[in-house]
Amino acid sequence: MAFSQSERNESFASLGRETCDLAIVGGGINGAGIARDAAMRGLSVVLVEKGDFASGTSSRSSRLIHGGIRYLEQLEFHLVFEATNERTVLARIAPHLARPLPFLVPVFTGAKHGMLALAAGLWIYDGLSLFRSYRLHKTLSTKKVLEIEPGLRTDGLKGAALFWDRATDDARLTLENAIAAHRAGARVMNYVEVVGFRRGEGDRVSGLVLSDRLGGGRTELSARLTIVAAGPWLDGVLDRLQPAGEARPSLLRPTKGVHIVVPADRLPVHHAIVANAISDGRVLFFLPWGAFTIVGTTDTDYQGPPEEVAADGADARYLLETANHYMPGANLVLGDVVSTWAGLRPLVRQEGVAESQVSREHEILEPAPGLLAIAGGKLTTYRRMAEEIVDKAVAQLGAEASPCRTDKDPLPGAPAWEDWDEREGSAEEKVLLEEHRLDPETAAHLLTAYGARALEIARLPGGTERITPSRPDVWAEVDFAVEEEMAVRLEDFLLRRTDLLHKGPDQSLGLARPIAERMGRTLGWDAARVDEEVRLYERRVALHRRFREG
Ligand code: FAD
Repeated sequence: MAFSQSERNESFASLGRETCDLAIVGGGINGAGIARDAAMRGLSVVLVEKGDFASGTSSRSSRLIHGGIRYLEQLEFHLVFEATNERTVLARIAPHLARPLPFLVPVFTGAKHGMLALAAGLWIYDGLSLFRSYRLHKTLSTKKVLEIEPGLRTDGLKGAALFWDRATDDARLTLENAIAAHRAGARVMNYVEVVGFRRGEGDRVSGLVLSDRLGGGRTELSARLTIVAAGPWLDGVLDRLQPAGEARPSLLRPTKGVHIVVPADRLPVHHAIVANAISDGRVLFFLPWGAFTIVGTTDTDYQGPPEEVAADGADARYLLETANHYMPGANLVLGDVVSTWAGLRPLVRQEGVAESQVSREHEILEPAPGLLAIAGGKLTTYRRMAEEIVDKAVAQLGAEASPCRTDKDPLPGAPAWEDWDEREGSAEEKVLLEEHRLDPETAAHLLTAYGARALEIARLPGGTERITPSRPDVWAEVDFAVEEEMAVRLEDFLLRRTDLLHKGPDQSLGLARPIAERMGRTLGWDAARVDEEVRLYERRVALHRRFREG
């Protein structure tokens, strides 16, 4: 059955009638990864997400599938080993969502780590990945560095190291896990919020009280076991277990991370550049992103409501200062920033250290009988974390379950080609170019975003025309998002099914209404609902532009 609004509504209506093995709270990468794994092992699974899939931290990351070279400095070898190995797994099960990305670490006079120390670190890094990086690292002379990155600062430049990690699309990686869970039999719903827990014998958690944020109804779900994968909302969700007015020590130390987006012609980079922030030495990245460059990220403690996290002027200036230092010709000012995003790292609470020193390791918690929760971790290691928590769930349920297969079975969009280099000239590309007569830019865009599912989009009637001339996104993507990817609000499409909020002209404000009207034809929206969707989208864009206020 299609992964669409009608499927969602039917699932919600069915929840009160039976008891599932596993209820999952949260449709970020962790919840979606857990649902996929558990459903593939044969458990009956329900996943509920209060917003859209990946609307929390999982669409606000640096979009890297990486071992985290900086964790070597903190001696977190286990994390690097696990992450580099997961990088290999993801490149196999979803090559379109783990694309090789070269990283350049320029070394300047007086740097904390000279060329020799850096090379030694990179041998360890490649070694921990069992030498399965896309390519092994290299060291480069100053002359060579300037040939491949001519915009870099020349003062004191002594050379650079080049190594390979991978780039993803965090929201689409999450979505593909949610779709895979659905295909394996899980009931997966967006815009369904957990508003309470059911308690059974011995005060054991026996299910959830749920509210439909689209349709407005309420229902109760019985579950043998519940897993909370609510990212930075973890403490807020667990507070619902407490008797009113009773305090509970918080488990998380959420820190805010901001990215800014500038046009690539204002900050041209051909590699992911690894830089040290001018004011505090933290590691920052300048990441090539088609016609744009991303600069990120900040790392500051955050206490407000997770929904309201946004970049402010100080965040943007902090990032611009370092970009201007490393790329002196850029002279970027706030007015060059076309968009931003801000996310919260759901880090396990650790006091007495700076934000960037808090460990990124995950923890599995048992806050109450019948309830597991997951905190910390990385996008890169989500599959391993899911495997670990589902192993625990299977043991607690005493269920007959098949072994974990998530490292072998491909994600829904996995193409026939195994290596990113093979997509050019691939059978999929030929069909797009020759049968569907797409221009090369549009074909490349669809293959990158959707992998083999690009062919399903190209086959849809009336849709391979561009939405706007300057971008390769096509109208069929709107229909596909609604019919096959459970996009049920305008911003689901503009912000998470595609990157149009960041990459479209004027943050796609001018495209919002025609796209809402197209979505509304299938979703049954009247004129008032179209107006409401456009208004909500304008509010979302305003949040991404809050940095302009100072
Ligand atoms: P989330 O994605 O936040 O998902 C939790 C979900 O729970 C949310 O969607 C929320 O709406 C839902 N929810 C909350 N309350 C309820 C409720 N009551 N009912 C139903 N649903 C509820 N990792 C990497 O590997 N590579 C990177 O490059 C990288 N960069 C990062 C950069 C930044 C700035 C940040 C902040 C993090 C980065 N990370 C990176 C880490 C990674 O993004 C996170 O570890 C990961 O996305 C967390 O996923 P999650 O599923 O735990 O949380």
